[in-house]
Amino acid sequence: MATQTEALTETPVRPFDLFPVEVAAVRRLSPSFVRVTFAGEGLEHFADNGYDQRFKLIFPAPACGFDKMPTSERWYSELRALPEEEQCPVRTYTVRAVRPALREVDVDMVVHEAHGEDDCGPALRWLREAAAGDRLLLLGPDARWEGPHGGVDFHAPEGAEILVAGDETALPAIAAILEDLPITARGKAFVEVPEAADAMALDAPEDVEVVWLAREGAPWGELLVPAVTEAARGMDFAVTDQFDEVDDEMIWEVPQEAAQSDAYVWIAAETGVVKTLRFTIRKELGLPKESGAFMGYWRNGRAWD
Ligand SMILES: Cc1cc2nc3c(=O)[nH]c(=O)nc-3n(C[C@H](O)[C@H](O)[C@H](O)COP(=O)(O)OP(=O)(O)OC[C@H]3O[C@@H](n4cnc5c(N)ncnc54)[C@H](O)[C@@H]3O)c2cc1C
Repeated sequence: MATQTEALTETPVRPFDLFPVEVAAVRRLSPSFVRVTFAGEGLEHFADNGYDQRFKLIFPAPACGFDKMPTSERWYSELRALPEEEQCPVRTYTVRAVRPALREVDVDMVVHEAHGEDDCGPALRWLREAAAGDRLLLLGPDARWEGPHGGVDFHAPEGAEILVAGDETALPAIAAILEDLPITARGKAFVEVPEAADAMALDAPEDVEVVWLAREGAPWGELLVPAVTEAARGMDFAVTDQFDEVDDEMIWEVPQEAAQSDAYVWIAAETGVVKTLRFTIRKELGLPKESGAFMGYWRNGRAWD
């Protein structure tokens, strides 16, 4: 009889697919970051799209691990139909590096402070105990799919001045974006991290200034919001008065294509912080919708289901 792992690798090619993996290494990068390297048969097909390619980590269900994990086309609705204890929790992360020849994928995960069990979701709970040999599922882009995979949200037009900003959850995406920008790119990147020791060397083009903002106990966004607002004020963009209100749950405004413009803004952070920045930059300063991506990466005090 085919095992769960074999069944998953035998499904037809889809843009995003399930990859059974094992933890190959866990390495502390800084006080708030751990790099997890996953390895597995099949990862030679994991697409290396760069930039802010997002993907899913699927964790073992509390009651039964991966035993009841559905594998069909409709796996997500089937998963959600299971009793809660049998559902594998799913969380979104950024691909930090792909090494197809070695069948490896890296992800940089934030070890955030948790004051109680409510503050500790399945990803953090798993990360605290993560060790070589642990089994997990990745849902990521399959290189054998010939069309677009989706899940890359950075679409800066060529030649535009760029403003990239985020908190620690966006650092892996910002690091990858900066690495993949053309060497002629120009602009600024702001990264708000829990403490100064979380700043790390980033491979950015010469004309992209990287600014680290260490919170050192201040609330999320306290440093990021004024710094990014000031930088946005100094940018030259065609002003619009078109602005749609969005509800608090839905901070995800991403233009799907790079409209030609002289300025481009990409912001990902805690949802309330992104909401504030989107309001200032889109409504008050008038940045056109096509020139900015605003993404809530997590919600303070709320699990991301
Ligand atoms: C497109 C995208 C890409 C992302 N990439 C990355 C990445 O590469 N690395 C990364 O570490 N995160 C990344 N995130 C954020 C990550 O998905 C969330 O932090 C997620 O909520 C963590 O899941 P959890 O199970 O630990 O907590 P949940 O079950 O979602 O939440 C439980 C509690 O933990 C709190 N919480 C969750 N995350 C944080 C945090 N970072 N700081 C403080 N409190 C928190 C919640 O407010 C809640 O109270 C990304 C999110 C998106 C949408």
